Amino acid sequence: MSGNINLGRIGGVQVRINWSWLVIFALIAWSLADGVFPAQNPGLSNGTYVAMAIAAALLFFGSLLLHELGHAWQARREGLEIDGITLWLFGGVSQFKSGFPSAGAEFRIAIAGPLVSLALGVAFVLVALAGLPSSVDGVAAWLGYINLALLVFNLIPALPLDGGRVLRAALWETKGDLGWATRIGTDIGRGFGYLFIALGVAMFIFQGSFSGAWLAFIGWFLLQAATAEARYIATEAALEGLRVRDLMVREPVTADADLTVGQFMDEVARSRRFTTYPVVDGERPVGLLAFGSIAALPRSEWDSRRVRDAMIPLEQVPLLSENESAVEALTALSSPTSNRGLVLENGHLAGLLSITDLTRALELRRPLRPARA
Ligand SMILES: [Zn+2]
Repeated sequence: MSGNINLGRIGGVQVRINWSWLVIFALIAWSLADGVFPAQNPGLSNGTYVAMAIAAALLFFGSLLLHELGHAWQARREGLEIDGITLWLFGGVSQFKSGFPSAGAEFRIAIAGPLVSLALGVAFVLVALAGLPSSVDGVAAWLGYINLALLVFNLIPALPLDGGRVLRAALWETKGDLGWATRIGTDIGRGFGYLFIALGVAMFIFQGSFSGAWLAFIGWFLLQAATAEARYIATEAALEGLRVRDLMVREPVTADADLTVGQFMDEVARSRRFTTYPVVDGERPVGLLAFGSIAALPRSEWDSRRVRDAMIPLEQVPLLSENESAVEALTALSSPTSNRGLVLENGHLAGLLSITDLTRALELRRPLRPARA
């Protein structure tokens, strides 16, 4: 997902927000200040409504964050590596680096977020019932309502919602087939997606209600997300059992870091043209040279620049090991800025792997493995 703003780490988990969240934040604050609070808590000043709206929107943001952190922290307790949390439109997405180790682990990770929402919802309702001043009371009541509404929405048994994950874990546990369980979950996800879109459009047309537009939008989101999840699992199944060593290019042609660009062009690239060359300093791998980046250099600089100056330094290159699974490698090489990685074994260069090698493997394997009916 692009367009993310980094908020730093909370409890060891990287947190980002998508730009779409800023839009939602503004919309929520505006609708609260302009509609909800004046209707629910009449007789307060405009300034108070604005302050209430901003406080409520911020606490809502905090609630979503805690929900996602509930998933992420539980995942860490289960021993899963987490890439981070991205908050966007209707909540968050926790990015896991690898698949779930077991149905039980998926169940506990899936249910952790809704449990946080339940606790928050109940806590805010209790505050709302405590007889505090009208402004505090209004904010707490809305937060209690929205957290409980979120809980109900998230428990719909449709992938990739939390309820869908709970359902998948249960199906996975009973039949022991993750692929089958995922297909049922994502089919239900798509079903709800279409249902929400249809209902939303009908509400919008026949009642002129803007909630209808929202519902249709949520349906569209669900449809997209369920489709993406189904595709991911299909990819995972297609790459099953393959490791980096099966797909990498062994003994790739390397470039010496101290060669000038001119020397590299004459001595290496002229006879052995590739799109990428691992760069070595003696025996030690130090980076990756993209042919495109030196071909773009003006010829007049070829003798003054060295391969070392034109390469991508090792710190910015995805590093893989021979034994890593192809699915993990696919995740590591899926970023638009780094779609090639070096395969290292005890600090030595063992091979080169690109996203192209992986997609080629996918194309070769897919027809051989028809979807299990
Ligand atoms: Zn959740």
